[in-house]
Amino acid sequence: MWRERISGLHNERQQNRLWRNRIVSESGQGPLIWIDGREFLNFCSNDYLGLASRPELAQAAKRAGEQFGVGSGAAHLICGHHALHHQLEERLADWLGAEKALLFSTGYMANLAVAQAFLKSSDLLFQDRLNHASLIDAGRTAPARMVRYQHADANALRSKIERHLSRLDTDAATVHPGLMIATDSVFSMDGDVAPLNELHALARQHQSLLWVDEAHGLGVLGDQGRGALAAHQIAPTENVFLMGTLGKAFGSFGAFVAGDQIWIDHLIQFARTYIYTTALPPMVAATSLAALQLIQHEPQLQSQLKQNIESFRQLLQSKSDRLFSCLKPSLTPIQPLVIGSPEATLAASQHLREQGILVSAIRPPTVPNGESRLRITISATHTTEQIQQLVDALLTSDIESMIDSSGGPHE
Ligand SMILES: *Cc1c(COP(=O)(O)O)cnc(C)c1O
Repeated sequence: MWRERISGLHNERQQNRLWRNRIVSESGQGPLIWIDGREFLNFCSNDYLGLASRPELAQAAKRAGEQFGVGSGAAHLICGHHALHHQLEERLADWLGAEKALLFSTGYMANLAVAQAFLKSSDLLFQDRLNHASLIDAGRTAPARMVRYQHADANALRSKIERHLSRLDTDAATVHPGLMIATDSVFSMDGDVAPLNELHALARQHQSLLWVDEAHGLGVLGDQGRGALAAHQIAPTENVFLMGTLGKAFGSFGAFVAGDQIWIDHLIQFARTYIYTTALPPMVAATSLAALQLIQHEPQLQSQLKQNIESFRQLLQSKSDRLFSCLKPSLTPIQPLVIGSPEATLAASQHLREQGILVSAIRPPTVPNGESRLRITISATHTTEQIQQLVDALLTSDIESMIDSSGGPHE
């Protein structure tokens, strides 16, 4: 029974051209990556600042490893909470202007923690339709009612909140629900930025918590790379808390939640994905500390990244109106080129691969049907020539002819 059921699902996924394959890289992360003994130009990593391969990070890991060994040995509440974890939490909180920060092993677990520790069954959790899977899963595993609103549309959110609250008012016996609004700051598959000012105002008006996932904002946007919230002059205090990841622009691994002490205390006491899991190796915390230093002291990384993003967009626009019209209007390192069908997107990715360029094909269920795309990511460490090579390859791969009439320019 099991084998038939599972192979049925596999056949379906293969027939729909949605089957996923892993590539095995033989080098570290960087603008160049080795696969099967061949060098590729890498345009699919989230290592936006090139920190993953910086010697400062490797040295920090090595020193901490030599001094403290590798494993943390236990969960944070047993004896796994090391001085390096503690120091990283303090530095992150200082950097972001939060009272406290709390480390998690991954961003996925941090998001689950927030939903599970805060929400009761009478509560309402509002989520952007295009939020990351970890936020959606967090909402699914929490007892609250989850309501999804139209992407990046604060007015749509306002009407949903009002509709849900007015329904409750008619029944005087109901307890007032706790409200929470969850959003990616920079959307992971689209590269656009949430309307944080409007969401913040709505959250205040309704005494809602605002939970912002800065996985793709930290290190990239805002003064000193403090993220999209900082770029909107919103601090992670009062009703706002920030989830940040350390495996993307930080080039390290792990995640954290930053906010007022009372929220962080609550997570320490009640978040199951914090309590029932082994702490990160202290050497990984040391690595993230080194990354934070670089982000704070090398603002040129951010400006170089911005410049690379602009030159990619300008170059593509100057070479092909058709391709440029399929590029999402993103000002962040995530530059999605919408092709349409999974078949065409896979073929486009394969053509680029044949020319030595690695760009991932993103297909449903990661993105909506008909919106399969090449997710091009730009790094501060790409050279102008490498960006030129990417644009040339996009033109010579004849990707223009693969764009589905159903996909292409849209919205
Ligand atoms: C990558 C990502 C996460 C998960 O972070 P991990 O540390 O990789 O588990 C959460 N949210 C968003 C928006 C992400 O892109």
